[in-house]
Amino acid sequence: MGREHDMRTIGLIGGMSWQSSRLYYDRINQMVAERRGGASSAKIILNSLDFAPIAKMQADGHWREAGAQLANAAQALERAGAEVIAIGANTMHKVAEQVKASVAIPLLHIGDALVKELRADARSRPLLLGTRYTMEDAFLTGHLERKGIGAITPDQADRDALHAIIYDQLIKGVVTDEARATVRAMIERSFAREADSVIFGCTEIGMLFPPTEVGVPGYDTLEIHARALVDFSLG
Ligand code: GLU
Repeated sequence: MGREHDMRTIGLIGGMSWQSSRLYYDRINQMVAERRGGASSAKIILNSLDFAPIAKMQADGHWREAGAQLANAAQALERAGAEVIAIGANTMHKVAEQVKASVAIPLLHIGDALVKELRADARSRPLLLGTRYTMEDAFLTGHLERKGIGAITPDQADRDALHAIIYDQLIKGVVTDEARATVRAMIERSFAREADSVIFGCTEIGMLFPPTEVGVPGYDTLEIHARALVDFSLG
């Protein structure tokens, strides 16, 4: 009681995609309401970007330029009173350092939150699912490796299929049984490679099915990131 003044304001860079931003908004508010009770809700400022130019910059490899846009968004959030910055996507953590360097307030990295939960459960060989950028670049896997967690990724054909499901369907809110079956089959194939867990390393994958229904322990980065933000906000 009477602790409302303690709550820190979360600054979320969203729109990447907006399908997942609304889930962030829902989950963060639900968690604050559960923990604080009563009429409590989250203090959150959402800076929701147009994803079209960002997705094009990703595809063209213009990451520095995309990073500059996110840095501007972070600075606007800081000016508006945010006390912590969150990039509401895994892929755009490729430019996390650039964004972090542009503001004085902390950036809560999705990979840090993820590592903490994987380590707490002693996972050492998770299957990482995400966009091609996240699966094939080192910005997230490197983050895990530094803490002794060797993530494996699907083979090339599966990575391409998953990337297409994310960009052609999930970011548009399209969820099909066919996509569900495709991703489930990918997860099942990873059992033969001794995956001990699955990372939903894309904030739209949870739209397909919950991480509790994949046959091994599942880690949804959106859920984990939201929880870390709430911990920071209320802590
Ligand atoms: N939200 C996605 C992610 O978590 C994909 C969209 C993007 O490229 O930002 O990686």
